[in-house]
Amino acid sequence: MTIQWFPGHMAKARREVSEKLKFVDIVFELIDARLPLSSRNPMLDQIVQNKPRLILLNKSDLADLSQTNLWVNYFREQGQHVLALTAKDDKSVKQIVPASKKVLADKITRDKERGLKPRAIRAMVLGIPNVGKSTLLNHLAGKKVASTGNRPGVTKGQQWLRFGSQLELLDTPGILWPKFEDPSVGKKLALTGAIKDDLLHLDDLALYELEIFCRFYPEQLKERYKLTQDDLFMELPELLMLISEKRGFKEDYERASEMLILELRQGRLGRFTLDRFEEHND
Ligand code: GDP
Repeated sequence: MTIQWFPGHMAKARREVSEKLKFVDIVFELIDARLPLSSRNPMLDQIVQNKPRLILLNKSDLADLSQTNLWVNYFREQGQHVLALTAKDDKSVKQIVPASKKVLADKITRDKERGLKPRAIRAMVLGIPNVGKSTLLNHLAGKKVASTGNRPGVTKGQQWLRFGSQLELLDTPGILWPKFEDPSVGKKLALTGAIKDDLLHLDDLALYELEIFCRFYPEQLKERYKLTQDDLFMELPELLMLISEKRGFKEDYERASEMLILELRQGRLGRFTLDRFEEHND
């Protein structure tokens, strides 16, 4: 799903999220592990304010492991709670409950001291389009759905998905807009499919992909397109021409670009991270 965001949409999205925040104990902020900064909503802190938050670096199966570790530490050092996640994977998703309990440890102790009966943690999922919100909810729902229906203090129609006995999630995620201002952020979001391709030229995206892979993942690029070390020293447009030739696309660079982008998204070039920890933390 791709949404064109206009100021009206942003205001509405923000209002909807604020409404729902009242019903939950914790927010799960889904971000793309390949883009730990670019896939965050620029106004999230203002929107979520001091509601407890667990950052989920989703699609970590597609991201560069060493970069993900650096980013996890980065968020931890900022005092945030964070988990690297693969929304499709059982074992990965199961870590969410203990991690949430850790975030809410003080509240859980307080409730206990007050003699309140322990109850399931209530959560909502938040994130930009295409980050894996529905995948996570469907996955949780697929395990054990019990629509618990309306409850006191919950607006009519608000449905909860139950995951075991310890976690309940609002069935509709909060969809927020990504950052737009910075052109390199736009390229990263388009390359991973978070925003529409047609906002940018395909060949610009493919050249950007080649630049990143020549620099950070040369072996993966060489292996996929049967390139030599010398090939990687070419100017990027030349390299695109060479790959096009090798794939039998001749001078149809548009088609070659499309193929490069598709294969990257399908994970055929292996794991990668576009937001480089070292570039943001010099
Ligand atoms: P939403 O717009 O945030 O609800 O995103 P979706 O749940 O529709 O996911 C967008 C795409 O990402 C889909 O093709 C999913 O299959 C894929 N996806 C979601 N989570 C993961 C993940 O952890 N790993 C991988 N490899 N793909 C994922």
